[in-house]
Amino acid sequence: MTMRVLLVEDDAELRRTLRDALALEGYEMLTAASLSEGLALAANAALDLVVLDLGLPDGDGESLLAALRRRESLPVLVISARQAEGQKIRLLDAGADDYLVKPFGVGELLARMRVALRHRGTRVSAALTVYRRGAVQIDLATQRVRRDGEPVHLTPTEFKLLARLVRNAGQVVTHRQLLADVWGAEFVEHTQYLRLYMGQLRAKLEADPAEPRLLLTDPGVGYRLAEPDEDPAAPLMPS
Ligand code: CA
Repeated sequence: MTMRVLLVEDDAELRRTLRDALALEGYEMLTAASLSEGLALAANAALDLVVLDLGLPDGDGESLLAALRRRESLPVLVISARQAEGQKIRLLDAGADDYLVKPFGVGELLARMRVALRHRGTRVSAALTVYRRGAVQIDLATQRVRRDGEPVHLTPTEFKLLARLVRNAGQVVTHRQLLADVWGAEFVEHTQYLRLYMGQLRAKLEADPAEPRLLLTDPGVGYRLAEPDEDPAAPLMPS
């Protein structure tokens, strides 16, 4: 099944480069050079994923994100030259699936696209219940965690936090989202809880907690659980 991707980017050279690279990977590409073109295409074409630039000649890509979020559940990856942490957080909390700061490698974009499409797949088919990466295995159904085959004891809060990251494995989850989902909406400012619990989880799960490979920090934005190992038994794409 061919995935159709809408790329909204006003930089003609970057648009061409990304369009060609993604088409080579087998994606069917629609491109837009402005916000209004992007809105028109998004309204009239069936899409599987949107790659969205923010700084567009006729407005901010953020308004397209808002329009898409109201309409349907469609993965949106934001690409922007803007570094500001506050803006990344706002976009992720507004429903963007991920955020890449320019310049980025095409390989990185492709990897993030695969993650976003897989997550969309999990919403329509069975959810990911077992996460494996290297020596670590996390089973959400039985709430068992193993490292090198040995059981790892987690407190209920540690497990809840880890499970929240497993559900978005490979994607950044903002501090605010984690605090709201694990502790409750009234705790969204208590980022010190996260630092404490992430430290505990790293101590239990990472080979070297000072150089995490599993529980990654997205500075000022949130945390990302590394992508799971490919499971040869699992279908790569939702059918
Ligand atoms: Ca731009």
